[in-house]
Amino acid sequence: MKENNIFQKIINKKIPADILYQDEKVTVFSDINPKAPVHFLVIPNKIITSLNKIEKKDKNLVFHMLNIAILIAKKKKIYNTGYRLIINCNNHAGQEINHLHIHVLGGKRLKSI
Ligand code: AMP
Repeated sequence: MKENNIFQKIINKKIPADILYQDEKVTVFSDINPKAPVHFLVIPNKIITSLNKIEKKDKNLVFHMLNIAILIAKKKKIYNTGYRLIINCNNHAGQEINHLHIHVLGGKRLKSI
């Protein structure tokens, strides 16, 4: 795997992060600049640069990412109170890092979108 962005360095433990979960398919870590009391990111270990780039063969991976988001929401005790998933795709959404990531936010009542 090429390590051309910060998330790939986190996956490969080349830079520190608060890793909450990792398996052969996904890595989950706390967002360094949290926008809510609980804010973590779920990313695939393989390089998918944006939501636009998912393919049919990724369907199990994407389903796994969602299931792990739910699992960590349980661990972080926001499963019952509620939480929000966000995927920013490309420039107008403010995607800063070209590696697919699901934001999971909770721990307080979030503003309506
Ligand atoms: P996005 O704007 O959707 O691309 O989100 C990128 C997110 O990555 C932002 O919420 C950042 O705070 C977060 N982030 C950037 N660098 C790191 C890092 N080293 N560790 C954890 N989160 C990071």
